[in-house]
Amino acid sequence: MTDISAAIGALRHAEQILVFTGAGISTESGIPDFRGPDGLWTKVDPEDFHIDRFRASSDLRKRGWRMHLDGELWGARSQVKPNRGHLAIKRLADAGRLAGVVTQNVDSLHHLSGLDDDLVAELHGNVRESHCLDCDGTWPTEEVLGWVEAGDEDPACPDCGGMIKTRTVMFGELLPDEEMRKAMMFLAIADALLVVGSTVAVWPASDVVFRAAHRSLPIVIINRGETEADNLAVAKIDAGIGDALPGLIDGLLAVPPAP
Ligand SMILES: [Zn+2]
Repeated sequence: MTDISAAIGALRHAEQILVFTGAGISTESGIPDFRGPDGLWTKVDPEDFHIDRFRASSDLRKRGWRMHLDGELWGARSQVKPNRGHLAIKRLADAGRLAGVVTQNVDSLHHLSGLDDDLVAELHGNVRESHCLDCDGTWPTEEVLGWVEAGDEDPACPDCGGMIKTRTVMFGELLPDEEMRKAMMFLAIADALLVVGSTVAVWPASDVVFRAAHRSLPIVIINRGETEADNLAVAKIDAGIGDALPGLIDGLLAVPPAP
């Protein structure tokens, strides 16, 4: 496939590749994207994912925990597994050529693929942890779901009585500082950017891509369909992630980075 050859050519000099991932890498694991024809926004109202509404409505919180319990919201009890796209990125890390992964996904699949915590910046948080909105006490979401299952439909913080919420970023919330800091650190050491399964449409996460362009890093994009950064890419592969990414990574790792 010539697009893959062009992508390998664009990245073969890179010693530290920053990988930016979006919902497109997780669809093969059975996680719906947001904007696609079967996407989450066709089933739920995006306004229900606004922090003000979450804080205001006990009914909404109960429904959210119930959906987590039923495995309908990315991970927690849905038993999702990393797919060949996530595993290809892990191979890049094993070869010492991954600057880090900046992901918009909250499904923890990069962690489950075996990547170290300090190699993954989860800009939109994650579902595996839940925290108190007042005192920031933190529990594995699995533990909170245990309380829900035992009959507490909208559990309050056992320490301060505050509201508990998964550590996912809702509309109206800031991105987590620590994850932004990691993302900027990855960007600082990266000499190329690989965008995987994202339309680069959601700001401020997309800022990572535009900053890479500003630094003149070579950018390669794998995404089915157009993205907001197509004009910045030196190579674009319009294909499913599971079909294209493993071949690209294998091709890259077949030769040491050329000077
Ligand atoms: Zn609390």
